[in-house]
Amino acid sequence: MRWDHRPGAIRVGPGYSRPVSLIIEDLHKRFGNVVALDGLTFEVPTGQIFGFLGANGAGKTTTMRIAIGVLAADRGQVVWNGTDTRELPRNTWGYLPEERGLYPRMVVIDQLVFFAGLHGVPQDLARRDAMGWLHRLRVPELAERRAEELSKGNQQKIQLISAILHGPPVLLMDEPFTGLDPVNVAMLREAFLELRDEGRTLIFSTHQMETVEAMCESVAIVDRGRVVVGGPLREIKRATGRRMVHLSVDGDHRLAWLAGVPGARIVRPGIDRSEIELDEGMEPEALLAAAVAAGAQVTHFEVADVSLEQIFIDHVGRPLDEDLHLAEAGGPVAPGEDAA
Ligand code: ATP
Repeated sequence: MRWDHRPGAIRVGPGYSRPVSLIIEDLHKRFGNVVALDGLTFEVPTGQIFGFLGANGAGKTTTMRIAIGVLAADRGQVVWNGTDTRELPRNTWGYLPEERGLYPRMVVIDQLVFFAGLHGVPQDLARRDAMGWLHRLRVPELAERRAEELSKGNQQKIQLISAILHGPPVLLMDEPFTGLDPVNVAMLREAFLELRDEGRTLIFSTHQMETVEAMCESVAIVDRGRVVVGGPLREIKRATGRRMVHLSVDGDHRLAWLAGVPGARIVRPGIDRSEIELDEGMEPEALLAAAVAAGAQVTHFEVADVSLEQIFIDHVGRPLDEDLHLAEAGGPVAPGEDAA
């Protein structure tokens, strides 16, 4: 069985080489008139880093909250290693919520020990591991500070430590990279890889497509409470059949000569580098030859896969940035009517 990659399609089958440990099956959830989840279905292979993507309001947070058991679904189920989440102990999950929730006045190390204690971790063990993680995330000096004194990014690090101190086999993280500077994003990525190498399953939502491309073996893109595309990232890309070239030309970002090249068009223009899509039958070599014939000083030429961002736009209907801007402006949060 394979995943069905067509827009609007729901899972047909996993198509994964690893066993699947987390199954989200036919989740339905309404809040009054709002349908938050509308038969959401996907599967996550064991020990993978999995990207859970979707426009604002698509249903990601609702799904995570149902998985950890703080919200009940109207219908459907979440199953971890064969057991319905409603029958699982809470410490199965590590959860990093979108709204951070530390006690502002409490000293960092004390609250890490306290939260781990809620999951049954003995104090001395919690203290030792908390200090270990503070060192790994290069902030040991925060141990004795109060949470309210910490920057947003550092609060996020502390909250992440709090989500993993009890050693959960599966981690759900709602936008863990938001608000972090590039150095801290890199550090978090390192930590995720470490956790994965320990055999844990990591699922996170984000709007940062580059991070997903670099970190995730598989993804699910959700739109209006349904998965519109999901499965191994490489397979999803291959299934599009789209072929791209990344091109840089010294002193010419307009690439006007491209208008005379049949079967090639710019899908993502840039000053330094543009992304060009090739139609079927158009070979990359022919594009390069056309560039040279036009006298273009080509400084970079790369045959590339279609980007995840492009796949997202194909399925959800508009770029992520536009979606964020709309949300910031208090505009509509439901994806566009022109979704593919
Ligand atoms: P974002 O990327 O903005 O975090 P999301 O994909 O996490 O979005 P959800 O927070 O799951 O989306 O919301 C899905 C839909 O359900 C939205 O329309 C939202 O307004 C609605 N919703 C979520 N929680 C509630 C609630 N407690 N009461 C009413 N509506 C809710």
